[in-house]
Amino acid sequence: MNNDNKRICKMCTTVIKGRSDKIFCSVNCKSQYSRQLKKVSYSAMDRINKILHRNRSILLETLGKNKNQMKTFREVLDNKKFNYGYMTHYHINNQGKTIHYVYDFSWVIFSDQEVLIRRIR
Ligand SMILES: [Zn+2]
Repeated sequence: MNNDNKRICKMCTTVIKGRSDKIFCSVNCKSQYSRQLKKVSYSAMDRINKILHRNRSILLETLGKNKNQMKTFREVLDNKKFNYGYMTHYHINNQGKTIHYVYDFSWVIFSDQEVLIRRIR
């Protein structure tokens, strides 16, 4: 009898019997584990999605419903607690400027702290 080969269930720590590639003691533990994993990753995505939606709302609110682009000051977005670290994608234009996107909106920050906000159609 070799105890080094004892494997315990990843979910409930019961000793596993049967095939050597088994990670869980039962189907029940396996599905419970995957449910927990899903819950954790969904709450992480939720947190990030909320920040992205908030950023988009701030850009929409600043730009207004009828304009497609405007320049404002960084301070305006700062005051609304815009989170510059969260975007959906970015693009570096031929002038070396980084254009940040949140869904269908973009923003570019200039050296004088002006911000160009655009709605992408
Ligand atoms: Zn188990």
